[in-house]
Amino acid sequence: DYNRVYNFSAGPAIMPTPVLEEIANEVLNYRGSGMSVMEMSHRSEVFQTIIDEAEADLRELMNIPDNYKILFIQGGATLQFAMVPMNLMKNGVADYIVTGAWSKKAYLEAKKYGKVNLLATSQDKNYTYIPDCSDLPVDPNADYVYICENETIHGSTFQKLPNTKGKILVADQSSMFLSKPCNVSDYGLIFAGVQKNVGPAGLAIVILREDLIREDLDEKVPTYMRYDIHAKSGSLYNTPNCWSIYVCGKVFKHLKKSGGLSAMQKRNEEKAAILYDFLDSSKMFRGTVEKEYRSLMNVTFVTGDEELDAKVVAAAKAAGFDNLKGHRSVGGLRASIYNAMPKEGVEALVAFLEKFENEHK
Ligand code: PMP
Repeated sequence: DYNRVYNFSAGPAIMPTPVLEEIANEVLNYRGSGMSVMEMSHRSEVFQTIIDEAEADLRELMNIPDNYKILFIQGGATLQFAMVPMNLMKNGVADYIVTGAWSKKAYLEAKKYGKVNLLATSQDKNYTYIPDCSDLPVDPNADYVYICENETIHGSTFQKLPNTKGKILVADQSSMFLSKPCNVSDYGLIFAGVQKNVGPAGLAIVILREDLIREDLDEKVPTYMRYDIHAKSGSLYNTPNCWSIYVCGKVFKHLKKSGGLSAMQKRNEEKAAILYDFLDSSKMFRGTVEKEYRSLMNVTFVTGDEELDAKVVAAAKAAGFDNLKGHRSVGGLRASIYNAMPKEGVEALVAFLEKFENEHK
């Protein structure tokens, strides 16, 4: 017992304790190399093995087909908001579905690079639902259709992928990456900032179909922002975020040992149900997203009274439940219950909220 709190942060977020223990054991001397991974050349054989294994384990976990590349790129998920249009806009047109703060940011960024259509949005109801995406007026010239599959701030998630009418689907999976099985062939490109469900911030994982990698880009596109460069150099064009790649690799192995993504989905559904069932039965708290579109990872809720919300957050922190404050742009409360959050953490949180409610009737 390390006296750790239950950390409900949206990211950087809770990590599996066994992974942290392994890292602690290796931090002075990584497997006889005489140094830690943070001191090691990214051109060394030892590091090459680390990155190769990370890629192979991720490929196995997600069952990624051979015609998809896996890239480890710095700049977080935010850099992908620009890299996606810079690399994929061949006709200079893209369709964006805006369901919350993160898809909105991506949409605004993409507008710098071409004609960007707002294909659908849930802004009218403050992003509390996912619009019907079964028959949207997809632009015949669109190079891709873009979604944020799980909106970290607003707490909504796509239950069904949009009908892109044959266009390539691009998805920001940052806050749901590896939370359940994923049929990679449904997408042209998936990206995720790793600091929610996987590892230390500052790294994005990009999974993209090989035939979408272009070399005929505008010559002003910065070298670092070209997928072809990263693909050709095995994510080692320059010094990568070695430390994050190393930790992510450990998490991939941990997930494989824990039963893979189907097991994660089962656990995550159980955990989310415990919290949502409580919110649905509570007279003090209520979930903010329409039931059908609720996120398994980011549970957003309110009391309806901002002062009371703040009181709950403070009392929770004092009781060992940290980072329950909703994002500054929406307020209220948010419990992020990523893969590494144990069921006991969610049960303990519900017990705490129940007690709080009873004491403040
Ligand atoms: N997309 C989503 C869905 C996110 O939740 C976040 C971070 N909270 C980002 C993108 C931005 O990630 P980063 O800070 O790594 O750039």
